[in-house]
This record gives sequence, C-alpha cells and structure tokens, in this order.
Amino acid sequence: MNNKPGLSHGICQLIDALQCLPGVGSKSAERMTWQLLQHQTAQARHLAHSIEHALDTVNPCQSCNMLCDELTCEYCRHPGRDPQVLCVVESPSDVLALEQTASYRGRYFVLKGHLSPIDGLGPNEIDIPKLFALVTEHPITEVILATNPTVEGEATAHYIAEQLKSKHITTSRIAHGVPMGGHLHYLDSHTLRHAFIERKRL
Ligand SMILES: [Zn+2]
Repeated sequence: MNNKPGLSHGICQLIDALQCLPGVGSKSAERMTWQLLQHQTAQARHLAHSIEHALDTVNPCQSCNMLCDELTCEYCRHPGRDPQVLCVVESPSDVLALEQTASYRGRYFVLKGHLSPIDGLGPNEIDIPKLFALVTEHPITEVILATNPTVEGEATAHYIAEQLKSKHITTSRIAHGVPMGGHLHYLDSHTLRHAFIERKRL
C-alpha cells in the first residue's frame, strides 16, 4: 500500500482499495475517498454494507456460472426457456445486455472471461470443461458463441467451435454490426439484437 505523507492509514487504505474498480486510477480514487468520508458518510456505510452483503449471498450458478443468490439462476430454472439452445458469453453483464434485446429465449453459459495464454488463462481457467460437460449432459442442439469481438474473444469462440465439431452440435457466431474490439455490454440493444439474429453458422 502507498502511504501518503500526512494521510492516515485508513484513508490510504481506502484510496488503494478503490483502485480495484475498472477505470479508477489514483486521482479518481482520491476524489471518491474525500466524497465518501466527508460528504456522504451514510451512503458510504450503505455501499460498504451492500458490497459485504453481495459477497456473502451471491455465487455463480452451479449450472451456467451466471451470478445469482440461489444454487441455480433464474435463466436455468425458467420453464419457458429453450433448453436446447445455449448462448456462451464472457461475463454476467453480457447476459443482461442480450436479455435487453428481447430476441433470445434459450439458456446461457458464462465463461470466466476469455482465453489469454499470455495472462495464464487457458481453457481450465475460464471454465471451458464445465461448458463441455453441460453440452454433453443436456440435450443441446445449438451453441451460439457470443464472446466479445476482440482478438481474445474470437480465439475463444474458435477454440470452442473446433471442440464442439466432434460432438455434432451446430455452432454459430454473432457478427453483423458488432465492431471489432468492442464489448457486448457497450452496444445498444438494437445493434446487438441485429447481430444476434444475423448470427453465422460456423
Ligand atoms: Zn444458470
């Protein structure tokens, strides 16, 4: 931890801790710290309590990895969803983005990110064996690969598609209208809906 001269341990600890958030550097973390400790102490306590409560109650769905507060998530439990179609994404926020398009009624599988050998992230680290077990044990006939259109997302989709070929399962990849290098959860619903409907068979 970087102890700054003149600042208490508690303040330095909070500035450090806030920098785990995406897009938050040291300057932003300092601003947030003053805001929380000086002007919004009630909200700061609520924030701390909410984080602790979520950490105690939220866990990955044992079937699909979506975050939920039961053993299995509502997408896996919902009787109206098509159990034969599985959409593979990189993060829980992608599930919400796809749900907002209202164009998909199948099940999901949430990878723990994407393949990135340089960062030590191989198939095991992102839960691909769990995906293949799910595909083998359930009557799934189509897998839609909706990983992000980044180099790593494409490589992950390609790897999964190659492995599924031997299982005789149709795989498709969302493509149209999704810019290379983008992330699904930043796309507007219309673009994502179109990309989903126009998916290409692999
Ligand atoms: Zn689930």
